[in-house]
Amino acid sequence: MLNLVIFGPPGAGKGTQSQRVIDQFGLIHLSTGDMLRAEMASGSELGDQVKSIIAAGQLVRDEIVIALIAKRLDAHAEAPGFIFDGFPRTVAQAEALDHLLTEKHTSITGMISLVVPEEELVTRLVKRGEESGRSDDNEETIRKRIVEYNEKTLPVATYYQGQGKLYEIEGVGSIEEIGDRIAKVLKAFQAQ
Ligand code: AMP
Repeated sequence: MLNLVIFGPPGAGKGTQSQRVIDQFGLIHLSTGDMLRAEMASGSELGDQVKSIIAAGQLVRDEIVIALIAKRLDAHAEAPGFIFDGFPRTVAQAEALDHLLTEKHTSITGMISLVVPEEELVTRLVKRGEESGRSDDNEETIRKRIVEYNEKTLPVATYYQGQGKLYEIEGVGSIEEIGDRIAKVLKAFQAQ
């Protein structure tokens, strides 16, 4: 199996680049942000519970997102692999994911970390907010999300680095240029 974590701060291009990898390799896309937005849109109890946390730019509790991921892993038992997007966002989530994958006799192949300077992130997300109307894409919340990322999520890169699985990619350039950089790393995985 090819199991990838696509990693980076909010606005790094994780969703966009995931889509290209899915098209190329037929992986199942697991985005906890998308799952939580779907819960909010459906008006479920869980959606109501997380709404104010997401609007404040904070992280949802580990147990909640781990349960969402566990459910999807079970639902796609025959998948050729997964791309985890926006998950894991804490070291506790990364440990839980390792545990879930070990139970399924598989593991993370590698983490693709998109590196983008902070001011570029803010510019991209403010623009996305204007186009999509996503409630957490306003400058105040964007800055809070970046603080959360630096404090709680960056250590996840160190976690995978410790396993020899961290691949840093420059996340500035055209979508194609960045996609080509990622494709090079993925070719190396396939050759393994
Ligand atoms: P995203 O679409 O990945 O930027 O996620 C949007 C928001 O959903 C984040 O700012 C968090 O509030 C929440 N969220 C998404 N994924 C996670 C996660 N793995 N852990 C905690 N909160 C998350």
